[in-house]
Amino acid sequence: MNATTAPTHFNSYNAYLRLRFGGRVAKISLDLGIPCPHRRDHPPGCVYCRPGVIVADRIGALGSITNQLNAGILAVGARYETDLFLAYFQNESASAGDLKWLLERYDEAFNHPKIVGVTISTRPDMAGDTLLDMLMARTWRKPVFLEFGLQSAHAETLARINRGHDAEIFADAVGRATARRLPVTAHAILGLPGETPEMMVETFRFLGGLPLDAVKVHHLQIYRGAALEAPWWRGEVKTFARFEDYLPVLLDCLEVLPWRIKVQRLVADAPRTHLLAPDWGLAKNDIIARVEAGFAARETRQGSRANPAHSIPRLF
Ligand code: SF4
Repeated sequence: MNATTAPTHFNSYNAYLRLRFGGRVAKISLDLGIPCPHRRDHPPGCVYCRPGVIVADRIGALGSITNQLNAGILAVGARYETDLFLAYFQNESASAGDLKWLLERYDEAFNHPKIVGVTISTRPDMAGDTLLDMLMARTWRKPVFLEFGLQSAHAETLARINRGHDAEIFADAVGRATARRLPVTAHAILGLPGETPEMMVETFRFLGGLPLDAVKVHHLQIYRGAALEAPWWRGEVKTFARFEDYLPVLLDCLEVLPWRIKVQRLVADAPRTHLLAPDWGLAKNDIIARVEAGFAARETRQGSRANPAHSIPRLF
């Protein structure tokens, strides 16, 4: 599969971005420089997480959001041969902090001439109405996209991974954002401690019933320095050792996810410097090709086992 061929067995978010913005869109990862308050308030924070994995520390060292954007555009624009960029407030919980301070930093992205849209990734319990109102008011300037972590719909799993919120809080945040016409992507992790494949599918059935715009699917990864590292060394936590072990679970989950919900990500993607397990050594295009082939072999696709009541298209 080459970079311009859209997948046909799942609803690709990248294909949507190409269509919406008229070409390949690259995301510029940004760091507000504020540690996630969840780690402070509920130590050790989410047990699979550790700082510096998702966005490298060198990005925050560039200073202002404008500096980070300019550096990212130079680096990523050449690599992806594009002039279309999304500002991606990705690091930690990117709505933590004083609202006025946050809006000033978001506005650097809204004002940047090369930025076509702004994405903010955060926790569902850090998406208050005032913040959502302020973001809605900015959608007349550029599109705004939100990302909220859920990871699992199961209360016992959320307690085990120390998420500090439940599925109802997540659903409530999705509803409040969507009511303001702010599209939401959900993050889900497959392979969390104590979960069976059936529980993972249940999480996707739950997501399918929400007015989501997209999902990002991650496989559980063990990072050096994360709270899960020690139990992993003791053999108490397992990961999908091979992609072939993960693929059937991923396909089962996507089959119950209605086609109207786009798929932004099929696997997690941490740099090898932080990664203990698993290391499948597969490129992104290989993964997409294997997912496409997996669906073709089953003669299914995303949404083929979705609840029909969940397939009603959204109004925008
Ligand atoms: S996963 Fe997100 S919410 Fe949890 S500790 Fe890490 S940054 Fe904070």
